[in-house]
Amino acid sequence: MVQPDLIIGGGTLLTMVQGEKPLQQATLVIKGDTIEGILTSSGETPPFEGAQVLDATDCIIMPGLVNAHGHTAMTLFRGLADDLPLKQWLFEKIFPAEAKHLNEETVYWGALLGCLEMIASGTTTVSDGYFLQDSTARAFQNAGLRALIAQGVIDFPAPGVPDPTQNLAVGKAFIERWKHGSALIRPGLFCHSLTTCSDKTLQEAMRLSQEFSLPLQIHLSETEEEVEEVIRRTGKRPVLQLDHLGLLNESLIGVHAVHLEDEEMDLLARDKVGIVHCPESNMKLASGAARVTDMVKKGIVVGLGTDGCASNNNLDLFKEMDMAAKLSKVRTLDPVNIGAAAVLNMATVWGAKVLGLEKEIGTIEVGKKADIITLDLRKPHLVPLYNPLSTIVYSASGADVKDVIVNGRVLMKDRAFTALDAEEVMAKVREISDKIRS
Ligand SMILES: [Zn+2]
Repeated sequence: MVQPDLIIGGGTLLTMVQGEKPLQQATLVIKGDTIEGILTSSGETPPFEGAQVLDATDCIIMPGLVNAHGHTAMTLFRGLADDLPLKQWLFEKIFPAEAKHLNEETVYWGALLGCLEMIASGTTTVSDGYFLQDSTARAFQNAGLRALIAQGVIDFPAPGVPDPTQNLAVGKAFIERWKHGSALIRPGLFCHSLTTCSDKTLQEAMRLSQEFSLPLQIHLSETEEEVEEVIRRTGKRPVLQLDHLGLLNESLIGVHAVHLEDEEMDLLARDKVGIVHCPESNMKLASGAARVTDMVKKGIVVGLGTDGCASNNNLDLFKEMDMAAKLSKVRTLDPVNIGAAAVLNMATVWGAKVLGLEKEIGTIEVGKKADIITLDLRKPHLVPLYNPLSTIVYSASGADVKDVIVNGRVLMKDRAFTALDAEEVMAKVREISDKIRS
């Protein structure tokens, strides 16, 4: 075996490979950015000399979580406007605050704060859609997280895009700047929704995404009001309208998908459109409860996202998993659906598939990228351990994450950040919030 750079040893390993049981006393051997070996206590002893060692005794070792939808810099607006209907929240509070306060500097610090929060709660890959995305990409690059960073496209004046006729030109220029800019960052486009982007904008965004072989994200059927607006304008429900425009394909990522009829789900399954479920945002804005059980039964791949911090108000995917399971049970009045295993798949392997990254991440396997977290079980609320899946989904929180590794690099060790100065980032965002408040 090659001389490893990093050893994570002594824990209960959850590979998230379908059908594999948790492995006791497991050791991961990492060389560079790649998982080189998975050993159990009965296996050969690796040559530890010279390698960094993370002790995972009394820990669960698992794949880093995939936050498949967010607007990271919206941490700036955490708690600014709560308890309002989506349209009022968006048009009266959030859009005006964004127009007034977003610039390259504020987006950078807001995104960096979000990166800190996600590292601290075990997220290693993020799909982000926002404006001024060079700043977001720089923040993610400095944080060391893996990310799909998508430039927002909307047919209104937006931060960094005062002339909406230039929205796709700005998006294309962003993609060209970042397509080879970093091993961990992929650029892309994010169309805000069917009610804020014209048919022509949507089609051109898809054409560009396919030209660069990148995913296209869109908020889809988030509220009943949005569905009715699309029907009024086009005579069709949103997914049928997307089909009519020729937009349903594997590059499309539909976010929310709260209000879907069977026929729409059949089309999404037929064309392998990935869906991102954001239960906490849907609950907070009273958008409704997505039919996750039905989507999964029909073969749609569903990932999990926090959405922006202003509609959540945190970026902790452990909480999101808990809520995803419980919201589905409330919606169906069936305690069996959705279970802990499915929810954990959504936050790892299915999320990776939605983002087109399943060959690199989402499971712990030899040859995959070393995106790994450890979860410290030496806490009263995590004892005893009968079923690691249940413990992770229903008992743990992001605060129980001990170590975070992305692409073989340790970003948090024993809950201490290794790449970022958290105090500096929090101080900068407090400074910005003073201006937003005034
Ligand atoms: Zn969103």
